[in-house]
Amino acid sequence: MQGTPVTDTIETTTSGDIITELRDWLSDNWDPELTVGQWWERLGNDGWAAPTLPAGRYGRGVERAVAVQISKEVAAFGALGAPGGLGLLLAAPTISDCGTPEQVDEYVGDIVTGRKAWCQLFSEPGAGSDLAGLSTRAVRDGDEWIINGQKVWTSLGQIADMAMLLARTDPDQPKHSGISYFAIDMHQPGIEVRPLREMTGHAMFNETFLTDARVGNDAIIGDLNKGWTVANVTLGHERAGLGAGGGDAGGGLSGARPGTLAGCLDKRVGDFVSAPKARTATTSAETTDKPAKRRGSNAEMLAGLARGNGKIDDPVIRQRLAQLHTLGEIGRYNAERSKALRAQGKNVPGIGNIAKLSMSNIVRLQRDLGLEIVGAQGMLHAYEPEDQEAINEATGNPFLAGVTGIALYAQAPPIYGGTDQIQRNIISERVLGLPREQGPAKDTPFSQLPKNG
Ligand SMILES: Cc1cc2nc3c(=O)[nH]c(=O)nc-3n(C[C@H](O)[C@H](O)[C@H](O)COP(=O)(O)OP(=O)(O)OC[C@H]3O[C@@H](n4cnc5c(N)ncnc54)[C@H](O)[C@@H]3O)c2cc1C
Repeated sequence: MQGTPVTDTIETTTSGDIITELRDWLSDNWDPELTVGQWWERLGNDGWAAPTLPAGRYGRGVERAVAVQISKEVAAFGALGAPGGLGLLLAAPTISDCGTPEQVDEYVGDIVTGRKAWCQLFSEPGAGSDLAGLSTRAVRDGDEWIINGQKVWTSLGQIADMAMLLARTDPDQPKHSGISYFAIDMHQPGIEVRPLREMTGHAMFNETFLTDARVGNDAIIGDLNKGWTVANVTLGHERAGLGAGGGDAGGGLSGARPGTLAGCLDKRVGDFVSAPKARTATTSAETTDKPAKRRGSNAEMLAGLARGNGKIDDPVIRQRLAQLHTLGEIGRYNAERSKALRAQGKNVPGIGNIAKLSMSNIVRLQRDLGLEIVGAQGMLHAYEPEDQEAINEATGNPFLAGVTGIALYAQAPPIYGGTDQIQRNIISERVLGLPREQGPAKDTPFSQLPKNG
């Protein structure tokens, strides 16, 4: 089922204009009695779900910073936000950038309206950091390709309708060539998704087995054997999205989820939102020009806990709280600096990689400091709501779950979207100009590269 693309180009002279337009649109369209699916149809088809996409391609052609304002405004109004997930974060912008107009119509409409959920079939047991070393094979069969191989770390693959798939279409070309990027239907007998339970208690990840799975030749995004270029477009959107706090891959399984399998589309949309936040009458200029009032930071939350149990008098704890606060502020200033330079058409070299590394340091510090502050209570973590209630009652500390949850999840950000070591490699080679890593000549055919095992 296809949606109707937004065809009018909307003049967005200032972000204030578009916020005013959005408020009017929300007043006319938001109705908590709609189903989630009906609401997302309106939001997506009118260009508010993925406003960074071009006008006429389900978006409004706005900067990422304006898109963040738009999603905050939707939340402040008390309406349900865009469908989310890897479809909106990665597949939609990639297909919009690299796909044909037919592919945009075929896939993007279903993403922005939440009709279909997507996952990312990139990483393999032998190809994570070295993604271009992937060995999942695609062999041509008439108008189709037959896919065989194994993927791993597939976030939310268990509720995905479609996937961004990287497969090797020509092993006799060098490893970065000979890869193609497919949009593959996950609902077929040749694809088996097996959930992997994590230390957080969730089973967000999966391993995915492709055995004679089929995909049409017209589902290649970009050119045949040029999938590495398209994959880099996806990875660019992934880093930018993570930097803007859009890392839904880590978001667990709660809230309204898109797609045919998550079971949310037919539910009442009003049940997924809380009451609108009280809003004083502000002009659009006030909304867009003033810095947003920030929520209490994690450093503030941990300082509150330390105050509560007397650890705030420990000079080492105080020093580390100050360090956490400082890292957060440096990250914020860097984001502002980068935004200001982008507005002038300039860039801070490697800023995305630096931001990603900094985020890893912050979550590690949060993990260690939080556990130090709560002490032995940090060994208590619940995996079920009723167990959580029992822990809250026994400890009298409703924030404990936040501390242990962060501690268990802190291992993920230094890995996903490119590990810390890979970020450092990129900064050293591409920003500092240090010599490149040693390895076989770049033009060696993939089939002749040494393999493990
Ligand atoms: C929360 C989360 C969600 C994810 N979601 C998805 C998803 O939906 N789809 C998907 O396809 N993938 C996903 N991934 C996979 C992710 O992209 C990979 O885990 C990541 O690229 C690292 O690959 P790997 O796990 O194979 O580790 P490896 O590449 O095997 O690395 C192992 C260690 O060696 C180091 N290392 C490797 N190469 C070098 C080098 N050249 N120089 C220095 N050190 C090096 C690494 O830094 C790491 O410490 C997800 C991962 C996480 C944690």
